[in-house]
Amino acid sequence: MFRSPASLWRRLAASLLLLACSMATTAFGAKSVASPVTSVRLYAIDCGHLSFKDMAMFSDTGEFDGQQGEMAVPCFLIRHPKGDLIWDAGLGDDLAGPKLDALYAPLGVKATIKTTLISQLSELKLTPDDIEFLGISHLHLDHVGNSHLFKHSTWLLNRKEVAWATTDASAAGIVPDLFSGYRDAKVEWLGDNDHDVFGDGSVRILRAPGHTAGHAALILKLANAGTVILSGDLYHTHLNHAKHLVPPYNYSRAETLASFDRIEKLLADRHARLVIQHSPEDFAALPKFPAYLD
Ligand SMILES: [Zn+2]
Repeated sequence: MFRSPASLWRRLAASLLLLACSMATTAFGAKSVASPVTSVRLYAIDCGHLSFKDMAMFSDTGEFDGQQGEMAVPCFLIRHPKGDLIWDAGLGDDLAGPKLDALYAPLGVKATIKTTLISQLSELKLTPDDIEFLGISHLHLDHVGNSHLFKHSTWLLNRKEVAWATTDASAAGIVPDLFSGYRDAKVEWLGDNDHDVFGDGSVRILRAPGHTAGHAALILKLANAGTVILSGDLYHTHLNHAKHLVPPYNYSRAETLASFDRIEKLLADRHARLVIQHSPEDFAALPKFPAYLD
């Protein structure tokens, strides 16, 4: 049947629009029932707690020897108009109890989980299936416990970090089963450069190696709160930050000192707020979930 050129153009334009819409949906996943956001938000989520009989493992120059200590284990949700990112995956909801004791007691640590990641996400009407990206500062066991929940997310993984954690028998604090979900997930492999998660400079993964082979921090540009840096485990405590203390369990002392230097410059130049992820004080100073920084 003959169609006028105008009607063919209209049909072609309609098809292209449909294709563009479907590509937009598949690029960032099906959207959740949670309302979309119009600016970047940072939510701090309680993903566990660690109690140490002896904090000696956090400085190789002895400042913590024989001291007890407490650490927060947060996960972070970053909501962006183009999608959602989870930064670090905590202790692991389904490990609470004897499994967690078996993992942490040999390290002289009592690990506890008060509330689950899933239940906190549900307060925002989100499930792990709604999360487009999973970013992990490094693969130590207290940062990957819930990673297996994010089967449908794109995992942003540093290639060196995974190679080290899966092949170096001397790598401490690594339990490969806890992050093996990446084998069945979509992975975006990160190399020696920073990574701009949403392409507009507002959420960037910063290379900050040393604690582990491919350790990273996260830098956020928020409209009201300004620039915020989430430390990963570059610093474990405020004293580690103030005195540049390096833990004895550490991949490379020289790389850690270089990463301190880089992050210090960024903090000063951008007048940024540093969130030391394991610091209970820094966790308590963030808005209490489901409140957020924006
Ligand atoms: Zn660590």
